Amino acid sequence: MLFSKMFIPTMKEDPKEAEVISHRLMLRAGFIRRLAPGIYTWLPLGLKSVQKVERIIREEMNKKGAQEILMPFVQPKELWVESRRWDKYGKELLRFTDRNKRELCIGPTHEEVVTDLVRKEVRSYKDLPLTLYQIQTKFRDEIRPRFGVMRAREFSMKDAYSFDVDEKGAEKSYMDMYDAYGKIFDRCGFKFMVVEADTGQIGGSFSHEFMVLADTGEDIIISCESCGYAANLERAEVGFASKPVQRKKGEFNKVETPGQTKVGEVASFLGVSPDKLLKTIIYNTDKGVIGVLIKGDREINETKLKNLLCLDYLELADEGTIERVTGSPPGFSGPIGLSIPLYADRDVELMEDFVVGGNEKDIHITGVNKDDFNVSGFYDLKIARNGDKCPNCSGTLSSTRGIEVGHIFKLGLKYSEAMHAVFLDSDGKERFMVMGCYGIGVTRIVAAAIEQGHDENGMILPLAISPFEVDVLPVNSSHRESMEFGEQLYKELLEKGVDAIFDDRDERPGVKFKDCDLIGIPIRVTIGEKNLKEGYIEIKLRHEKTSQRMKKGEAIERVIECVKRTTHQ
Ligand SMILES: [Zn+2]
Repeated sequence: MLFSKMFIPTMKEDPKEAEVISHRLMLRAGFIRRLAPGIYTWLPLGLKSVQKVERIIREEMNKKGAQEILMPFVQPKELWVESRRWDKYGKELLRFTDRNKRELCIGPTHEEVVTDLVRKEVRSYKDLPLTLYQIQTKFRDEIRPRFGVMRAREFSMKDAYSFDVDEKGAEKSYMDMYDAYGKIFDRCGFKFMVVEADTGQIGGSFSHEFMVLADTGEDIIISCESCGYAANLERAEVGFASKPVQRKKGEFNKVETPGQTKVGEVASFLGVSPDKLLKTIIYNTDKGVIGVLIKGDREINETKLKNLLCLDYLELADEGTIERVTGSPPGFSGPIGLSIPLYADRDVELMEDFVVGGNEKDIHITGVNKDDFNVSGFYDLKIARNGDKCPNCSGTLSSTRGIEVGHIFKLGLKYSEAMHAVFLDSDGKERFMVMGCYGIGVTRIVAAAIEQGHDENGMILPLAISPFEVDVLPVNSSHRESMEFGEQLYKELLEKGVDAIFDDRDERPGVKFKDCDLIGIPIRVTIGEKNLKEGYIEIKLRHEKTSQRMKKGEAIERVIECVKRTTHQ
């Protein structure tokens, strides 16, 4: 492709609307343009990247025997009612009514449609296992779309669904996808981590997320270097070392703490550290009002709490509820004498002589021990953090940041039971199919690559997904020999299968260099007037500071060498 012919509307200034690096650089380098909140047009450069990602995904999916289909993005309400998600999915599901008063939605995911397809077409165990996938546009009506294509409302996703005769088969399908995902992200050139994840709204029995490591990532990964344990923050468990504690009972004292309602306030008022306080947090749930006890310097992991108590609904109690169950305004809740069910974090078992709320305005109680109140049990309920003990070994947990680019779920019978997706086994008996589902955020991958690779001059893209592999750049466009040599080199590279662009623009050298860096083309071949006269050209790799001078006759071989060396596979 000739640079002069390509539609690359770059921007010199940082766009104001962009909050994160990838968004800023994608706008500046002419990869995307915004149409409406969370809705973007992909321009030629960006689309080329997306298509390279898609190609890698297709190749690895096909290798595992998964077959590509294309399902509609408009879906009928009836299927979502069957799966019981029409009401549950919330406002992210964009619903509308057609001219015949039929209710429809724009698919944020395709479990319902694919399950409907397979239940109608697959009759016998002989037709299973079956894994189907598609690469398609999804729509999720995010309340606050932001970060460009990272958290867009409309985005492209690869979603795959597996159907098996039993658990064992389903596990194999799951592991096949696990394996394929590893290869995909490796080939994309990512540093990534696979972490245990919560199954969330899609539901099911277990799941893993594939996280691209980036300091700017939205997600927090908790991992242990000693044993390799890794989980996202929602899911991360915390190890527990019990130790013998001498405890007293009933030797607590009421103290006045006028107007001190926050942990920090109470702690400094009483002259103790925040970890000597025990917080009592009151929640409204679908199973009634509950209280959760946690050390003053820690936070409750609501996902763990929901999973522990099998809750559909969990929300911090309002002031009225708190007053009704504790008899005091918020900020003075404590476990002593409370009649609602109390669930304690395991830290509470190790605490001695601590401070709790007095269930009375302006009153706290000091010198409290765990036998001074009744709890339903001690559980791992806190949000993990740096320095916590590993749940699997004696190691220590540390936290890093990442961007989720892939997510795999073992669904089990969730959808096949709800939608009656059955087959006949070898004895002619009807059985439910065992399912899995597997997603990759295709457009998000491009953003993640930029978050992982960039500097002050622009993107540093992995070769495999960069819009171009090589930029052939004659420094002086009015120097005939440079232009001719450049064009010749460019054409030969194309013939050899290298994805090259020739910067034939009549622009100042500075502009060309800046654009090449901004777009993040991994290999730049610079043709300078003086160098060329001496029989040399220069090759510079985007991620290296210095360039290498080499004989012009060897240019082709050396560029191809660079391409091969920089290609993962
Ligand atoms: Zn460990």
